Amino acid sequence: MTDDIRWVKTHCARMDHGGCGLLVGVQGNQIVKIKGDPDGFLNRGYVCHKGRVSAERLTHPDRLRRPLKRTGRRGEGHWQPISWEQALDTVAAGLVKTREAHGARAVAFCQGMPKGLEHFALIRLANLFGSPNLVAVQDVCHAPREVAGMHTCGFYPVVDFHQKSDLVVLWGSNVTWTNEEGAIHSLLLEQLRQGTALMIVDPRRTELTDRARFWLPLKPGTDHLLALAFLHVIVTEGLCDAGFVAQWTHGFDQLAERVRDFSPERMAPITDLSAELIRESARFYAQSRPAAIQWGNPIEQTVHNFDAARALVCLMAVCGNLDVPGGNIQANEPGILGLGPFVRADLLPNKRFDMIHAHHGAIPRLMTVPPAYFRQAVLSGEPYPVRAAYMQCTNPLLGYADSRQTQEALLALDFLAVADVFMTPTAALADVVLPAATHFEFDDIGHYGLGHGLILARPKLVDPPPECWPDLKILNELGKRTTPAEHWFEDPSGFLELLLKPAGLTYREFVAKGYLTGPERFHKYRAKGFKTPTGKVELALSQAPKFKLNALPAGQLAADGGDPAFPLVLTSFKNRFYLHSSYRWVAGLRRKSDRPEAEIHPETAAACGISDGAAMVIETPHGAVTQHARVTDAVRPGVVFAAYGWWFPEKGAATQFDWQSANFNMLTSTATLGREFGTPNLKAIACRVRPAADA
Ligand code: SF4
Repeated sequence: MTDDIRWVKTHCARMDHGGCGLLVGVQGNQIVKIKGDPDGFLNRGYVCHKGRVSAERLTHPDRLRRPLKRTGRRGEGHWQPISWEQALDTVAAGLVKTREAHGARAVAFCQGMPKGLEHFALIRLANLFGSPNLVAVQDVCHAPREVAGMHTCGFYPVVDFHQKSDLVVLWGSNVTWTNEEGAIHSLLLEQLRQGTALMIVDPRRTELTDRARFWLPLKPGTDHLLALAFLHVIVTEGLCDAGFVAQWTHGFDQLAERVRDFSPERMAPITDLSAELIRESARFYAQSRPAAIQWGNPIEQTVHNFDAARALVCLMAVCGNLDVPGGNIQANEPGILGLGPFVRADLLPNKRFDMIHAHHGAIPRLMTVPPAYFRQAVLSGEPYPVRAAYMQCTNPLLGYADSRQTQEALLALDFLAVADVFMTPTAALADVVLPAATHFEFDDIGHYGLGHGLILARPKLVDPPPECWPDLKILNELGKRTTPAEHWFEDPSGFLELLLKPAGLTYREFVAKGYLTGPERFHKYRAKGFKTPTGKVELALSQAPKFKLNALPAGQLAADGGDPAFPLVLTSFKNRFYLHSSYRWVAGLRRKSDRPEAEIHPETAAACGISDGAAMVIETPHGAVTQHARVTDAVRPGVVFAAYGWWFPEKGAATQFDWQSANFNMLTSTATLGREFGTPNLKAIACRVRPAADA
């Protein structure tokens, strides 16, 4: 007899930053249907294609199902299945042996985009193990805006999508495709229905540009200059919130002096926008109260990311949009365990002085190691040797800039363990591969530690394959083998209960509630000031010399360019059907997007002899890849929008899943890094294209 379908509430996860409330139909141990939950706190019934097919991740025949030990050379694809006991002992031995030989900091713990609680359990493991080196991609994703926010106003300003704004600015944020901060897409659409105006800063036409009152298709890599031009208009035309500026900002005169040179007329040819459009847009932002800026990753993916983020926080501040309903706010967290106690930050109090990047003079508040410095340490032993790595939820061979350097570094490690759902090009280089469980297969808490003021319940709905373990369980067991056992739990539920205890809830009670939010409070600075040294928003940073920072947002031009052999500008965009390099193996997604497609303007395509759909070689001074041309006037002439994250699971282990031929990061380099965050240029790279037939 067939079981009846039982409908269970949970939240979508691991397909983007997640957050849509879902109704999941479960029959026996199978997920048979996924729908949007009309009661979903963030989405009110919305669900996208990725969310609807997300259960396909669980059932792919080639999914990793046994722990594997490498038998051939790294990347050769020869493996021997081993038991979990053997796997855990081997991984623990590899990490401990390195610690004994070179010290704990010689072991790196690597994670991709945070997806669930395992991200913080990994930091806990690193801290308990004694290594300060948690390597992650935060240098190109959120750290610049978070750290710039902390320095400028004492918090990370996120959009308050729960109150109506007069204006929302999507600055490099294509939320209907990427849903960047969690399920904000549907909240934004609701605001637009209610009459909120929209401004879009994006070099590429998106689904929403037609609905925007202003669309600024700027040249990639010039965001910081455009923000300074906005400030120039607002300051020189007296459009600031004078009361807020007078009472709550520090360094306004210095900022005014700094932006004097950044007139729209001067910035127009550099940003490739008209001076009139810049001026009108800046005025409109200043006159819309409240206005909120939803900032996307492009502002963080150049060497100028600190200046871009600083300029944008200054913009929010001088127009009185910080910590106001419908503006850019500090999200108030629910009363759960704070990050510090959860990750046991107390055990490594000097971590910020010993992380790899501290020795490169990176900004002290950056608490994850930039991948470029991690690889330098592996390859050169500077500032000290790094000889082993444990990786989860990450695929650095595709995700880090300069994929060849990544390969070289991973091959150079004495020991590498990778936990993942599928055999990826990175996992193919490991000594041990651990089969992970994925969303719907274990109890998890979403959005913890992300600064959005909420956490979401993600209860287990089905059993994983018998030998696939949640990362939380793997880390718990590795922790017991490599660090004092008393800091770990009998089983992974201990993590969940620990986190919820201050809220007076068990995990089951939390699941019944579905989510927790912090209290809705605004204008908190009126009581205690801003959490900065001056108690004000620091338009000019009062402690700039101490932190070796520019006191004011600077306006240097992108370093790349000027070589006539590479006359075009390369940038990239995220595919709406994938998450970074994940899920190319999910048939329901490949049907929607089967091959890497680079967008190019008809005039540029014609000049380069490229026709729509044809294979096209994209070349930079650093490398070449082949992608298919999508000829479209949605993009600017002279700019190539390459696809990112492509490898081909179907090409098999013998080719290491063809990780090179279309991989965007074969085109990037780490030769030039931003001083504050160690970030390479992932945007605004000089390039050229030609038909693949000439290759
Ligand atoms: S928008 Fe994101 S969170 Fe919502 S269903 Fe799609 S993938 Fe899931």
